[in-house]
Amino acid sequence: MSSAKEIKQLFADYVVPSYGRFDLVFDHGQGSYLWDTNGKRYLDLGAGIAVCCLGHAHPEIISALTEQAGKMIHISNLYYHKGQGRLAEEIVKRIGRGKCFFANSGGESNEGLYKLARKFGHESGRYEVITALNSFHGRTLAGIAATGQDKVKKGFEPIMDGFRYVPYNDLAAVESAIGPRTAAVLIEGIQGEGGITPAKVDYLLGLRKLCNEKNLLLLMDEVQCGYYRTGSFCSFQQILKGVPEGKDFLPDAISMAKAIASGFPMGAIWIREPYQDLLGPGTHATTFGGTPLACAVALKVLEVIQRDALPENVLAQSVFITEKLNTLVQRYPRVMNGIRGMGFMLGINLNTESGVFSPAKGNPSGQFVNRLSENGVLAIPAGASIVRLLPPLNLSRAEAEEGIEVIEKTAASLQ
Ligand SMILES: *Cc1c(COP(=O)(O)O)cnc(C)c1O
Repeated sequence: MSSAKEIKQLFADYVVPSYGRFDLVFDHGQGSYLWDTNGKRYLDLGAGIAVCCLGHAHPEIISALTEQAGKMIHISNLYYHKGQGRLAEEIVKRIGRGKCFFANSGGESNEGLYKLARKFGHESGRYEVITALNSFHGRTLAGIAATGQDKVKKGFEPIMDGFRYVPYNDLAAVESAIGPRTAAVLIEGIQGEGGITPAKVDYLLGLRKLCNEKNLLLLMDEVQCGYYRTGSFCSFQQILKGVPEGKDFLPDAISMAKAIASGFPMGAIWIREPYQDLLGPGTHATTFGGTPLACAVALKVLEVIQRDALPENVLAQSVFITEKLNTLVQRYPRVMNGIRGMGFMLGINLNTESGVFSPAKGNPSGQFVNRLSENGVLAIPAGASIVRLLPPLNLSRAEAEEGIEVIEKTAASLQ
């Protein structure tokens, strides 16, 4: 086996350095754990950035992959196959009447949303999409244009035309940004990269009403917050749970990706009736979209999530984790000063004012995540001061307890 040093050298020599990587070289995984090349074990509370929703090396994902690979991996979208139709049916059942288009990533799925908005507005000369500040919609050219963060655009100007940005959770700001060219509004149900900020109930309901009044599409990016991460299939279903006015809430289109095939690359958009046929034959395509292989895995993911009652597990463990983290906030106020998010999309606010994080050592979030990994837990920074926990949906109580213990140990060492 190659040593960590040799592997990192291969990256230094041959891999485009577009990622800031942690100093960790992984070899294999099992369930909620990963092992590095030195044999050290880590509890993976990042799950590949909300991707590996059933953890690593899940036996049923392995057999779904290998069985389908032995049968038919790819045929192109020139032909029909059962898996794509069945997966679309399963997604429609979980959201509402409409149809799906399959892609390969979150950024590419969002491209489908932008194209839908343009097609929708084309006859009336409208093409603009209003998005939120602090959003994240992917790294394609339209994705960085849609994203309301300057850091992703820097050096790639001119930025594609047709996007306007407004503060998140601010309905009045959306209303005043609407102009004669506006075709759609796009938001994340819970901002992920921007720092774990859920949409408010009134914001969602208000956006729906506003989009109806102004004949705009309401688009939602559920790439990170969707796929049961909150305990409901879509984040807005969880946010609006028990809200009478929210019972019939639906966006007009939704993008998903990350967890859809628990690590096998895939993305999708769902489009609501009556817009589901706007992208007609010849208007949109992708070679690898919805292959028999990807669909077989994605169908297995949904089957396992349902059978093993993982949405209920997310809710139960999330209550436990949130309670414990709130205790840690009380106990270590110099290190952390708040918990945010919902379900298995949680953020720890670090206290950047107390002086426990030295500015010379980079972002507090990076410093905390580094210390966590030294102690055997993987988490993910969001911005400079928030640490994200995005565990696999099948995380056990014992694993949650282990994670909390390590977070406490890490906080104690800093306090
Ligand atoms: C990760 C992410 C994307 C981009 O997905 P890729 O698969 O990296 O292209 C888009 N939107 C949100 C909310 C994301 O979290």
